[in-house]
Amino acid sequence: MRILGIEGTAWAASAAVYRFDPDAPLDADADPFIETDAYQPESGGLHPREAAEHMGEAIPAVIEAALDAADGPIDAVAFSRGPGLGPCLRIVGTAARALAGTLDVPLVGVNHMIAHLEIGRHGSGFDSPVCLNASGANAHLLGYHDGRYRVLGETMDTGVGNALDKFTRHVGWSHPGGPKVEAAAADGEYVDLPYVVKGMDFSFSGLMSAAKDAYDEGAPVEDVCFSLQETTFAMLTEVAERALSLTGADELVLGGGVGQNDRLREMLTTMCADRDAAFYAPEPRFLRDNAGMIAVLGAKMYAAGETVAIEDSAVDPNFRPDAAAVTWRDDESV
Ligand code: ATP
Repeated sequence: MRILGIEGTAWAASAAVYRFDPDAPLDADADPFIETDAYQPESGGLHPREAAEHMGEAIPAVIEAALDAADGPIDAVAFSRGPGLGPCLRIVGTAARALAGTLDVPLVGVNHMIAHLEIGRHGSGFDSPVCLNASGANAHLLGYHDGRYRVLGETMDTGVGNALDKFTRHVGWSHPGGPKVEAAAADGEYVDLPYVVKGMDFSFSGLMSAAKDAYDEGAPVEDVCFSLQETTFAMLTEVAERALSLTGADELVLGGGVGQNDRLREMLTTMCADRDAAFYAPEPRFLRDNAGMIAVLGAKMYAAGETVAIEDSAVDPNFRPDAAAVTWRDDESV
């Protein structure tokens, strides 16, 4: 069978085709075909109206490319139902419904943050990992318990990537800022920044204000970037370790675009090695937003009978991962 996945929560207009056998375990080596068209703001950060305009213009062509690459008929359409920017989600939801109706195939509504987790579980072969989702608009830890992915800890304000992007906007760098922070940090030295962890929750807003202040007061931008990475990623590593410790899990997967950062992966690798836990980070194209992860989770959901009627398929910009019943796993809970 073939499933078409469509992703469109923010910057990535993306479509993918994934081929699978619904009666067999999903094949972690089977590579979904993915076509993505990225929105690049001319100045500043992601603007919801411009992002939606880009989504509307780009989504037909990426879907067409995915359909062209499919070497046979599509059996189901999966789409990112949330969380994300409402104007973008509505465009993708409309495209997915229209396509499912035209092809006369079932529709699958996917939680984007669970898709970040599941692509890591899929690639790693881990049974029941804790997942650190370090993305643009989000930062949280998920663990499976009793039919749901529970939010074990999360940011109390901004997502981690958005926090880095806010600092780079302040210093006049173009979006996205995360890769520029990583490049500049290579030549930096540590300056003191606030470290805010409360149990398994954490906060970035005071840290970002302090980073902007340090830069305005003359600290070299390389030093601020280095310290931003060290502080932010140490916070994420601390809470990930606490989540492993408190759940008893010994597997960690990473999700989200900030996971492309080498230093974050290095810290998580060291922490996991120190406590004999296994660590897995998907390759970059499956870390940043992509329709491959929507197609793969869509296939798992489809095989479990988790389809949605068109009249019940409204998008949800605030779709929390713990709001989705997990029906596609047959393993024991953590
Ligand atoms: P979400 O999945 O929460 O909807 P998103 O739509 O913003 O997030 P992602 O693709 O997961 O999208 O993440 C994008 C973020 O990743 C941006 O904030 C970007 O700055 C950040 N990022 C990309 N590369 C790096 C890097 N090398 N280091 C740090 N951050 C990075």
